[in-house]
Amino acid sequence: MQTIGLIGGMTPQSTMLYYEILNFLSNKKFGGSHSCKQIIYSLDFETISGLQKENRWDMLNDIIADAGKSLEAAGAGLIIICANTMHLCIDAIKAVVNVPVIHIAEATAMKIKKKGLKKVALLGTKYTMEKNFFKKILESFRIETIIPNEADRDTCHKIIYKELSKGLLLKESKMAYLDIMDAMIKDGAEGIILGCTEIPLLIKQCDVDVPVFDTTTIHAREAFKQAMKTKL
Ligand code: GLU
Repeated sequence: MQTIGLIGGMTPQSTMLYYEILNFLSNKKFGGSHSCKQIIYSLDFETISGLQKENRWDMLNDIIADAGKSLEAAGAGLIIICANTMHLCIDAIKAVVNVPVIHIAEATAMKIKKKGLKKVALLGTKYTMEKNFFKKILESFRIETIIPNEADRDTCHKIIYKELSKGLLLKESKMAYLDIMDAMIKDGAEGIILGCTEIPLLIKQCDVDVPVFDTTTIHAREAFKQAMKTKL
């Protein structure tokens, strides 16, 4: 099995989830005391979120590309970016590494397709909801995406950066997310994408009546599956 390279720290809260899920899958598959061979390149989220705010995607591209090169040099056989938003930089990595980089939106789209859903709501940071990179991939799978209204997008975004990124899980924020999801279901969403890797800390499938797509788990599982394809 290949060693999985993780670009993490975006935020540390969700990187821990990836680490846990990959170890869990490994142990489930191989038994005994097996855990997953993985290398984590953990970035400083203050730097990352600051550059996002300043719209310095050029600098973010460089940071992510460098992290990818380091992971490849350290022996990673495939790489994942442990965040949705930072997939805005995936092309910059792909241009400099020779190992596969597994796209979170592609993995998610495959899951939605399997369930046969045609219209889903996408919740995440403003970058993920408002820019086109995630929706475009869903579109290529013939899945329609809807997003919350501006005020609700603002709420989603603030809760991620001010609370979830620090591991703060507040009841009123969970209620706010549930209200937003309800509105999306009324708008015709057949499923909800938790399109930010921290949202699964707050929202679980049992909280919602329609299928929920937890991008953290979906992405980690897809990486594990791909890593298993090669014996090393
Ligand atoms: N982890 C988050 C995501 O999945 C947000 C943090 C970031 O901006 O990278 O989009």
